Amino acid sequence: MTPDPALLSLNVATVRAQWSLEQAIDGCARHGIGWIAPWRDKLAECGVARAAQLIRARGLKVSSLCRGGMFPAADAAGRRAALDDNRRAVDEAAAIGALCLVLVVGGLPPGSKDLAGARAQVKDGIAALLERARAARMPLAIEPLHPMYAADRACVNTLSQANDLCDALGGGVGIAVDVYHVWWDRELAAQIARAGRRILGFHLCDWLVPTTDLLLDRGMMGDGVIDIPAIRRLVEAAGYVGPREVEIFSQNNWWKRDPDEVLRVIKERYAAAC
Ligand code: ZN
Repeated sequence: MTPDPALLSLNVATVRAQWSLEQAIDGCARHGIGWIAPWRDKLAECGVARAAQLIRARGLKVSSLCRGGMFPAADAAGRRAALDDNRRAVDEAAAIGALCLVLVVGGLPPGSKDLAGARAQVKDGIAALLERARAARMPLAIEPLHPMYAADRACVNTLSQANDLCDALGGGVGIAVDVYHVWWDRELAAQIARAGRRILGFHLCDWLVPTTDLLLDRGMMGDGVIDIPAIRRLVEAAGYVGPREVEIFSQNNWWKRDPDEVLRVIKERYAAAC
């Protein structure tokens, strides 16, 4: 079964080097892509109210806002500042009608080697944020990141860990499954099944061999080694029926191309390789 084209979403990071949010909104409309996922820096540049109005005017829907998180800090003031910023992120996500706020939870505070402590801070941070998120009816989507990011981006590194957090934190929090971060996991099938209706987002790209940059060398679907259709079947079997976000950080390839070409290739590959 081919993936439903009506569920395709453009994560704006995929064209972040070339386009403003407004240009990305217009691009999606022009290419018949019905969903979009802004990042907060581009959203701030555009203005939240104006972005909400442009998105509505073009008939788009918002699969997620990227991103909240980055909870751990060296001291209480840092943790408070992170929480305040996350509350603003919840409000922004609600203002643009996002289905969820993606959380890249943060890694070790500067100078720290206390990974268990960072993980405890993440749990406390999400727990503290949940009050605002529940009031705003804005689901929080914990995105487990590949373990190579444990130090600097996210100390939640597996679906098992994300599921455990969801078990501990209760309603209002779920999981974003990004194929780039979870494809290697021996427990992938079991943990996607365990996540079930907690799955709030599904992110697509590919793992290139070799990968030349830890962050900025993601591949277009079909150019790497991830069995994307197999993972899609798993999330669908778990009950996920929502949008599929294409999210590609690619400083030497896709960020250098004509963004209209990038969107054309995304649509082709989504149909052929997802
Ligand atoms: Zn992602």
